[in-house]
Amino acid sequence: MREKYLLENYDRYSLMVDSGEGCYVTAADGKRYLDMITGLGVNAFGYAHPRITAAIVKQAARCVHTSNLVFHRHQGMLAERLCHLSGLDRAFFSNSGTEAMEAALKAVRARAYPRPARLVALRGSFHGRTLGALAVTGQPALQHRFEPFGVEVDFIEPNDHGALRAAVNEQTAAVVLEPVLGEGGIYPLETGLLQQARELTERAGAWLVADETQCGLGRTGKYFAYQWAMIRPDIVVTAKPLAAGLPLGATLFTEPAAQFLPPHSHGTTFGGGPLACRVALEFLSLLDEALPRICELSNQMRQRLDGLRERHGVIREIRSKGLMYGIQLARPGRPYVDAALERGLLVNCTQETVLRLLPPYIIQLEQMDEAVKILDDVLSEAP
Ligand code: PLP
Repeated sequence: MREKYLLENYDRYSLMVDSGEGCYVTAADGKRYLDMITGLGVNAFGYAHPRITAAIVKQAARCVHTSNLVFHRHQGMLAERLCHLSGLDRAFFSNSGTEAMEAALKAVRARAYPRPARLVALRGSFHGRTLGALAVTGQPALQHRFEPFGVEVDFIEPNDHGALRAAVNEQTAAVVLEPVLGEGGIYPLETGLLQQARELTERAGAWLVADETQCGLGRTGKYFAYQWAMIRPDIVVTAKPLAAGLPLGATLFTEPAAQFLPPHSHGTTFGGGPLACRVALEFLSLLDEALPRICELSNQMRQRLDGLRERHGVIREIRSKGLMYGIQLARPGRPYVDAALERGLLVNCTQETVLRLLPPYIIQLEQMDEAVKILDDVLSEAP
């Protein structure tokens, strides 16, 4: 077992992936699985999409890496596209969601300096594993043993308008939120709450930071989930599907926010390389075509899951926004995940009792039926 050389920081499934095509992955033993978690929201256009593959091959033959000492044309083009789509003004590229979050937090801290930045964030949120992102992650179990972080964060319940009003004041540097809490168990924030967060931060002279790592880039049926509330944050964090599986994160800033990360204040060796940026441009062009269908797909899947709920008392609630689904169970979900895997379906369990589905944007109705049939079977057999 060569895997004994790996750090045991993950609780992995017993699945050795070999390859993938469309919505399916094939294991080393040849068994096929319908993937409804899409590499945790990364493989939005499935596996081995011909346009993504072609973009990778073509760009790899030209230039993979340059460093940020120089320009390459794909980075500027991608920044322009993301700024137009988001309504923000400038982009910084990194390699992951947590790094994109760090850039946002560094700008927040630089603006508050020399005072410490006081932040408001949400209980149950997830913003990444590096120390800055972990400080604003509202999950004490993940923070345990890594504190203190040296940042003052006031955690409030999602969708609690009163708590938000009470928490934001002139001392607040920023409100940090996921418009749909993903790892936290798929909790969409009300559009009214997002609007309130925007109004309160504006009045207090604070920034609004939207972490769209999981809910952004088409996942909810808009380019960015905050667009459902017709607001514009000061900083937007995005990553996961952006380069279709190559590591790429982006932090988007309004012009005033961008001023707090001047030359030499921040950077990365790999972030925004030519290969990742070229592939991200292809991803965005696929997204332009797919976006109009996402709400319809979302409703189709939601109807099927509502049917599942009627048939299984163990399901307490279904929460969803676009193609993000949380099946809230009355019991631990991991045995169901393992049973689904046995039957050829890949889903994930978050917060112990929530089955999470992040289907690919290319999912067809037959694949929804296939997934729901397998879930029906595993939920019928009490684990
Ligand atoms: N922010 C959110 C909302 C996430 O869902 C995640 C990852 O799941 C992150 C940040 C961290 O992203 P990464 O794992 O790419 O560092």
